[in-house]
Amino acid sequence: MRLSRAFLPTLKETPAEAQIVSHRLMLRAGLIRQTSAGIYAWLPAGLRVLRNVGQIVREEQDRAGAQEILMPTIQAADLWRQSGRYDDYGKEMLRITDRHDRDMLFGPTNEEMVTDIFKTYAKSYRDLPRNLYHIQWKFRDEVRPRFGVMRGREFLMKDAYSFDLTKEGAHHSYRQMFVAYLRTFARMGLKAIPMQADTGPIGGKLSHEFIILAETGESQVFLHKDFLGFDPLAGETDFNADLTPITDLWTSRYAATDEMHDEAAWNAIPEGERVSARGIEVGHIFYFGTKYSATMGLTVPGPDGKPVHPEMGSYGIGVSRLLGALIEASHDENGIIWPDSVAPWKVSILNLKPGDAATDALCGQLYAALPDQALLDDREERPGAKFADADLMGMPWQAIIGPRGAAAGKVELKRRATGERLELSVEEALTKIK
Ligand code: ATP
Ligand code: MG
Ligand code: MG
Ligand code: MG
Repeated sequence: MRLSRAFLPTLKETPAEAQIVSHRLMLRAGLIRQTSAGIYAWLPAGLRVLRNVGQIVREEQDRAGAQEILMPTIQAADLWRQSGRYDDYGKEMLRITDRHDRDMLFGPTNEEMVTDIFKTYAKSYRDLPRNLYHIQWKFRDEVRPRFGVMRGREFLMKDAYSFDLTKEGAHHSYRQMFVAYLRTFARMGLKAIPMQADTGPIGGKLSHEFIILAETGESQVFLHKDFLGFDPLAGETDFNADLTPITDLWTSRYAATDEMHDEAAWNAIPEGERVSARGIEVGHIFYFGTKYSATMGLTVPGPDGKPVHPEMGSYGIGVSRLLGALIEASHDENGIIWPDSVAPWKVSILNLKPGDAATDALCGQLYAALPDQALLDDREERPGAKFADADLMGMPWQAIIGPRGAAAGKVELKRRATGERLELSVEEALTKIK
């Protein structure tokens, strides 16, 4: 993408409405534009990150054996009357009436709908286990939408739903998602710690929240410092094998949000091993048994012919919230520092002298070798403005090319995260960037 033609509106001033750094940077770097309270339009750079984040989520769901579907945003109230949640959900649910006076709603989550869909097709215990997920917009009429995409009203969520014949099976499905989540967040360069959580209105028995530590997090969390050293990506994961060694490790030490905090257990940990911090909830998994299969009439004949209600779980990831969380975790005073795995483009190429033949040629050569991976700053702007925008937008690499380097066939390659600079040929620069 050439900046001279791109729709990448950066702001010099700090927008007054943004209270936390990720929100400020998302507005300043031109990633999002608020259209109503808690509702955002995604501009080109923001959309590219949103897609990259969604793609990592998708790959890890698929790897764990879940299958992607796409359910609608608008649902019939009758489905929710069956589970009893239509009245329970309260004002957070956006209720809509269609022209025939039928009660509809903009889905805040999809347990009812997926149970209803699955019910149509599940004919026997052989149709279990299954795990279905989608990545779809949700609406929750939050009392206080704030912090940009962190607490929006319309937001993108990945939600998966598992159906199993037995409790043991459901626990295995739960562990598959638990491990998939560890991998998902680690691939984005985030340290997300699973913490025992309250099951809340979804109801049920077993639940973990995945929390990223950040000063601006909305929950107070307490954890053993060992968790910060564990690496979910060390070694291959076989999702069909017994996953308890992994989940046991990640539940072997203390970690809890304030709602579940146990002072006595906490005080038993030596002081130097305790970490008390603020956290952002980026994922949440539940095992809730037969709550929805029972209320919504989902049964299949078991191996003995008797009908059974499948054991279910649901598993959410805040895909759009993750953009805020990623920036909270990775930025400096000059702007965003995108991790390589989610960056909108891999490199910003800074042409310091558009019109200079050698500079244009070298920039063009590098740009052509990186189709759809490079942002070329070919604007008629001062170098200082280009440096500032490149730092603000946060591509992992900056390739800085001016007349002097161009005459020698050299690119100055800067790593955004460390500030490290290297003088390289185009070929050497390409191997670093790719
Ligand atoms: P919170 O405690 O932040 O209100 P929640 O517990 O109500 O979140 P869940 O029902 O567990 O949310 O939904 C799954 C995931 O969706 C959450 O872990 C979070 O990452 C994301 N999420 C929930 N509400 C919002 C929101 N208003 N804006 C952006 N993401 C959200
Ligand atoms: Mg909530
Ligand atoms: Mg919560
Ligand atoms: Mg939650």
